[in-house]
Amino acid sequence: TERNANEPEFHQAVKEVLESLVPVLDKHPEYISAGIVERIVEPERQIIFRVPWVDDTGKVRVNRGFRIQFNSAIGPYKGGLRFHPSVNVGILKFLGFEQTFKNSLTGLPIGGGKGGSDFDPKGKSDNEVMRFCQSFMTELYRHIGQDIDVPAGDIGVGGREVGFLFGQFKRIKNAYEAGVLTGKGLTFGGSLVRTQATGYGLVYFLDEMLKDKGMSLAGKTVLVSGSGNVSIYATEKVQQLGGKVVAVSDSNGYVYDAEGINLATVKRIKEVERGRISEYVKAHPKAEYHTGWTGIWTIPCDIALPCATQNEIDENSAKILVKNGCKAVAEGANMPTTLEGTKVFLDSGVMFGPAKAANAGGVATSALEMTQNSMRLAWTFEEVDAKLKNIMVNIFKNSSKAAEDYGLKGNLVAGANIAGFVKVAEAMKAQGIV
Ligand code: NDP
Repeated sequence: TERNANEPEFHQAVKEVLESLVPVLDKHPEYISAGIVERIVEPERQIIFRVPWVDDTGKVRVNRGFRIQFNSAIGPYKGGLRFHPSVNVGILKFLGFEQTFKNSLTGLPIGGGKGGSDFDPKGKSDNEVMRFCQSFMTELYRHIGQDIDVPAGDIGVGGREVGFLFGQFKRIKNAYEAGVLTGKGLTFGGSLVRTQATGYGLVYFLDEMLKDKGMSLAGKTVLVSGSGNVSIYATEKVQQLGGKVVAVSDSNGYVYDAEGINLATVKRIKEVERGRISEYVKAHPKAEYHTGWTGIWTIPCDIALPCATQNEIDENSAKILVKNGCKAVAEGANMPTTLEGTKVFLDSGVMFGPAKAANAGGVATSALEMTQNSMRLAWTFEEVDAKLKNIMVNIFKNSSKAAEDYGLKGNLVAGANIAGFVKVAEAMKAQGIV
């Protein structure tokens, strides 16, 4: 821990995975002799760089840029870019570490990586965001490529930012290397369903969890935290499958609408106006707005879908959810539940879908975008959606089976960690000490 001091999120992610792997390492001593554990927790490469840009008033601003190239055993590094003031090496290492196993679980040939900046896009003009993205890419371009490292979006990085980043990459390289970034616009190599993929995939996964217990989403009351990309499309799919989403949130507070969240209003506020969720009550006066972003978990529900950020459900919130009758939790955000919170759910018999399995639909669809780019083809919405659904069903099956194989039936946290790990470990073993 000394060499990774001040990186609590990274420690948390590693601890959870390694605890699950104890029975695997007992059964496979060859992983120990090949030094797999020591190597898998160390990123292959970490890049930190200066990102200078000029704001609209003419003032020079400096942010810090990062790319953590974590593991390339099964494919080029792949993972999103996060623009948020909280970004630091420890957070990106936790995300890159998790990404390695998640990408393995998709069954597609992609390694793990993550990056971003402490830049805060909130309140910035389009021109400021563009100048920032151009400066960021002016350094990043030399480290990425369609066979090297393929970034995408994450918190604070959506279609607008990916467009600006791609434009600058193309300009510097003088090459139309479409597969270097995913989450692109549909006019320049983007894939249909990519925008919806993480949220839709989460709900396909949830649906499998429920079906396994003879249940369905129809008529269920659902909480979906956040109101960004993952939250919006998780809400959309829950509604399509007959569930009722009664609350969404942002980092300031949450909205409770007993009649069911009106998604068109949320999309207008968040996707078009880039506003705050508190504005929802202007359009729906019967709904309630409360400040404080974790209060959402005090609302009684059947199902909770945390889709905002890491560690948003702690032990206390988990206990309240269980007490209020919550039967299933599926993680749309990365590591939204603390280790203590996860324990509460597992001990209470709540169905629990961990992030690296449940939210893998986004990166899986990004890999499908890469495939279409290299084939120079564009699949239809229905084709991509069917592939996404199939991938999520397989992730559920493989995670369930891995848990069962190691005597941990029903524990998808352990199952996902084991299934994701074994493929990467086998590839690392075969490739020698590198
Ligand atoms: P967005 O930026 O689109 O939305 C993030 C949402 O979460 C916003 O509502 C935001 O509120 C809220 N939020 C962010 N940070 C905090 C915080 N510190 N405290 C409280 N609320 C916060 O991001 P995404 O929807 O893309 O990502 C959400 C989560 O899903 C992240 O954990 C991400 O890593 C994960 N994820 C995303 C994937 C994707 O394809 N986009 C794929 C897999 C995982 P506010 O507007 O107030 O900041």
